[in-house]
Formats: sequence, C-alpha cells, structure tokens
Amino acid sequence: MIGFQYVRASNLAEAVRQMADNPTAKFVAGGTNLIDLMKMDVERPTKLIDITKLPLNEVAETPEGGLRIGALVRNSDLAYHPLVEQRYPVLSSAIRAGASQQLRNMASTGGNLLQRTRCAYFYDVAMSCNKREPGSGCGAIDGHNRMHAILGTSDACIAVHPSDMCIALAILEAKVHVMGPNGERVITFGDFHRLPGDAPQRDTNLGPAEVIIAVELPRRGFAPNYSYLKIRDRLSYAFALVSVAVGLELDGGIIKAARLALGGVAHKPWRDLRAEDALRGQSPAEAAFTRAADIVLRDARGFGHNNFKIELARRSIVRALTQAARGTPQSQSTKKIA
Ligand SMILES: Cc1cc2nc3c(=O)[nH]c(=O)nc-3n(C[C@H](O)[C@H](O)[C@H](O)COP(=O)(O)OP(=O)(O)OC[C@H]3O[C@@H](n4cnc5c(N)ncnc54)[C@H](O)[C@@H]3O)c2cc1C
Ligand code: SF4
Repeated sequence: MIGFQYVRASNLAEAVRQMADNPTAKFVAGGTNLIDLMKMDVERPTKLIDITKLPLNEVAETPEGGLRIGALVRNSDLAYHPLVEQRYPVLSSAIRAGASQQLRNMASTGGNLLQRTRCAYFYDVAMSCNKREPGSGCGAIDGHNRMHAILGTSDACIAVHPSDMCIALAILEAKVHVMGPNGERVITFGDFHRLPGDAPQRDTNLGPAEVIIAVELPRRGFAPNYSYLKIRDRLSYAFALVSVAVGLELDGGIIKAARLALGGVAHKPWRDLRAEDALRGQSPAEAAFTRAADIVLRDARGFGHNNFKIELARRSIVRALTQAARGTPQSQSTKKIA
C-alpha cells in the first residue's frame, strides 16, 4: 500500500498554490488515466489535488465567434454539445471515436490533453522505459513496437500520443489557457505537446505548477468538409493505429485552405504545414491527396513491428481527404448515454 494525501481545491488560486508547494503532487480530474497509472505503480504522487469542484465546466461562445471550453467539461458533454456538433463536427467525431461511452462520461477536456502514452513498456515497471525512469533505456525500440511511432521519434523514445480529441484540436488550431504561480498564459496547440528528443519524460510544455483552465477554439470549424478517420484493431474501445483529422475549405472546385493532422504516429499530434501548403490551390482529387500523403510521410521510419503503419498512414490520409472533399465524413451514430 502506498499512502498519499488527498485535498479538494475550492478555487483556482488554491489549486495552483497547493501544487507549487509540493512538486510530487498531481491534479486529478476524471481520474480515468491517473488512477490507473497509480494502481500500476507508474505514477506515485504523494498528494492528489482534486480539481473537480472548480468552476471550469462551461462551454461559452467567445466575442471572436469561437468557443471557450472549460478544462473540466466532460468528453461526452463536449462531443454532444449542439455548438460543437454544428460548428466543429470534426471535434465531435474525434471524441466519439475514443475510449468508451462510460469513460467519456468521466474524462475531462484538460485530462484528455494530458493523458499519458499507452506504450506497454511504460505501464510495466519491470521494463526499461526512459519516459517512466529517465536513463533506463527504451524497451520498445528493439521490442514489440507494433503500436509505436513512425514520425518524430528519438533514440530515447518512440511512444505515441494516444488522444483522439487532440488530433481534431490540432487542425482547429486551438489554444490552451493555463494558470500558474505567475498568472495566466496561452499556449498554441502546436506548442503544447512535445516530441521526445532526449527528455521523453516531458510530454508537454506545461509548467510544473500550471493548471489547464480552458481550451479555446477559433471561429473556423471546417463543418462542411471535414473527416476524422480512425483505424484501430477493434471498432470501439481501442487506441488508434493511425488516425487522420482533415478540414478543407473549397471554393469553385479548388482547395482554398487545408488542415491535416495524424494521430497514432508520433509523440504529439502530427501536423505538417508543407503538406497543407501543397494542397492549397489544387483540385480536390486523388493526385493532390497522394502528393500530400507523400510529403507527410517523407521521413517516416518503422521499427520492425510497426513498418505497416507507413503504408496505412498513406492510405488513411488519401481516404480522409477524399471523404472531406466529398462532404461524406467518417461518422459515428452512437447516442449519448447518461
Ligand atoms: C480503457 C481505456 C481506453 C481509452 N481509449 C481512448 C481512446 O481510444 N482515445 C482517447 O483519446 N483516449 C482514450 N482513453 C483515455 C481517456 O480519454 C483519458 O483517460 C481521459 O481523457 C483522461 O481524462 P481525465 O479527466 O480522466 O484525466 P485524469 O486521469 O484525471 O488526469 C490525467 C492527467 O492530467 C492531469 N490533469 C487533469 N486535468 C488537469 C488540468 N485541468 N490541469 C492540469 N493537469 C490536469 C492529471 O494530473 C493527470 O496527470 C482511454 C482510457 C481508458 C482507461
Ligand atoms: S517508447 Fe517511450 S514510453 Fe515506450 S518504453 Fe520507450 S521510452 Fe518508454
């Protein structure tokens, strides 16, 4: 039995202060990832700071025509929020592709951004893992790496970021509002998650005592032409082998703007601005989509068991772009269960 303290924060300033006072504390929201990691002895916080009573569970329109999503808004509530379904269906679709209904009913927006990799070596404390224990080595590089990364890897870590929601947030160019001992700041979504480099223990650029307070969506939601395509081993309750979020703006049969991000292939949601540039001004047809896929995957590298992901990603990109261009997105028909 490993003991830990539990406190419930009654306001944001208190939550930040409690965290600043104890570097081995952890915030807990839905608990769907952190509590599992504690049970498996991967995370050992000496104190849990429960933030679930903080007033961070609203979805509100911004003066700029976007949405501000409180960090404690549950994944289900967000996916089925009328404004999200209407204006940001790619986000709704991505969230519904993740986990199970019960988990989505508990999981929070902030917790989803900070969920940790599902690399099996990270979860098994008997194995070497630089992310869990810096300097101990990486069991996956020469091990069973079927689920692992093909882009942006390092000699220290080849884990992937597991979220579905974050892949949609990447193409929507969301902003993450955080609060720390020095006040509030905003982190652009592209700068929020990190590549492993030589410090794979750090998943994000969030400061040690900072709490996520909200995620802001700009006005542009790509509602008419989007797709979230998730390829996985089972139809539900499985993490992505490869996922693709696409948003297109079409004008007179030409691509005016394109956004494209991949999940299941890198340590962070993988967006490639060169591929997006290459799509702009093109006719929305297979030739342009294949060229974009080639650009995204130009530096892709497999580690043995996951070599198949390179071709899978190529085909998934072309399929998702085709679905978005035709206005026939991959969609899920699951209804919300209270
Ligand atoms: C069986 C299973 C299957 C799953 N399948 C999928 C899937 O297919 N796709 C997918 O995307 N996800 C999947 N998930 C993951 C799930 O989406 C996450 O566990 C969930 O989003 C985490 O949210 P939470 O609120 O429960 O976070 P918690 O577990 O409470 O916290 C997670 C981390 O975030 C930190 N934290 C939480 N909120 C804040 C905040 N506001 N500010 C700062 N730090 C914070 C905590 O300290 C902790 O480190 C699955 C989970 C399980 C258990
Ligand atoms: S891939 Fe990363 S998380 Fe997995 S064992 Fe290697 S260092 Fe650990």
